[in-house]
Amino acid sequence: MSEVTIFGLGLMGSALAKACQKDGVPITVWNRTIEKAEALKPVNVSIAQTISEALAASPVSIICVDDPSSVLTLFGNSEIWSHLEGRTVVQLSTSLPKQVRQDQTWLTERNADFLYGAIHCGPQDLGTKDGHILFSGPSSVYKPVEGLLSHQGGKIEYLGEDIAAVSVLDLAWLSTRFGEFIGMLHAANICQSEGIELQKFIEMFPDNARIQHHVGTIRDGTYDQRTATLSVWRASLELMKQQAIDAGMDAGFPNLVGGLFDRAVQADYSEEHVMALFKVLRGDAGTVD
Ligand code: NAP
Repeated sequence: MSEVTIFGLGLMGSALAKACQKDGVPITVWNRTIEKAEALKPVNVSIAQTISEALAASPVSIICVDDPSSVLTLFGNSEIWSHLEGRTVVQLSTSLPKQVRQDQTWLTERNADFLYGAIHCGPQDLGTKDGHILFSGPSSVYKPVEGLLSHQGGKIEYLGEDIAAVSVLDLAWLSTRFGEFIGMLHAANICQSEGIELQKFIEMFPDNARIQHHVGTIRDGTYDQRTATLSVWRASLELMKQQAIDAGMDAGFPNLVGGLFDRAVQADYSEEHVMALFKVLRGDAGTVD
C-alpha cells in the first residue's frame, strides 16, 4: 500500500508527487491522461489505471486538478463509493467556499474525511522550505495527516475547523493578486509607450519580488515559463465571479479583469505565463504580436 494517492499530474500535481518521491514517501498516482503519470521518474511510485484502484491504494488521497468540482467529477460514480469509506480526501484544486462545504457533506455521507487546502507557492517551491500550503477542516482530520503533508514544504499552515475558511481566504488573496497584475501590466504599458525602459521601473522596487518577477517577465518576453498558466489563473477568476454571484456581491472587479483574460485566451496565450496578458494590452498591431 502507498502512503498517499495523488489525483492530477499537471504542473502542480506533478510537483506534489515529486516532493513525496524526494523524501522516499511511497505514492500512487492517477491522471486522466496517463502519459503524464508515465513521465514521472519511476521511484516509489505506482500508477493506477482506474479511480477505484487509486483510492484503494492509500489511506489518503490528494486531488490537484484544474476543476473546482473535482470531488464529484472523480468520485461521483456510485460504483467507486465503497473505496471512499475510511479514507481521507485532501482537496488542493482551487475551489469555491460553497463547493467545499458541499464536498465535505457529500464525503461525510460516504464515511470519508475531508480537508481543503490552498497552495500559495509555485510548483518549484513544493518540497522546499518555501513550499506554502494553507489548510482548513476538522483538526481530528488534519492532525493524523500533518506529517504526510509536511513533505510538501516548510510552510504548512492549519487555519482551523471551518472547512471553507481557506477557500474564502484564498479567493480574497487571489483578488489582491489580480489587482497587482493589472496594475503592473498598465505600469509596463505606460513605460513602454513613453519610451522608458522597464528595467528603470523595476529598479524603483528593489524589495518587491513580485514586481521584479512579473515586470521582469514582460521585459524579457519569457512567457513560456513552466509555472501557473494564464489558463489556470483565469479559472480562479471564474471562481471569483461565481463566489460574487453566490454571495450576492458586486462582481464588477472579476468581470472587468475577466474581459482582459478572455482577450488573451482568444489570442491563444492560454498556456503561457499570466504576464502574456501584456501582449494584448499593449495594443500594437491589432492587439496581438
Ligand atoms: P495544469 O498544469 O493545467 O494541469 C491540470 C490538471 O488537471 C491535469 O492533470 C488535468 O488532466 C487535470 N484535469 C483538469 N480537468 C480535469 C477533469 N475534469 N478530470 C480529471 N482531471 C482533470 O494545472 P495546475 O497548475 O497543475 O493546477 C491544478 C490546480 O492547482 C488548480 O486548481 C490550480 O488553481 C491549483 N494551483 C496551481 C498553482 C500553480 O502555480 N500552477 C498554484 C496554486 C494553485 P490531463 O492531464 O488529463 O489534462
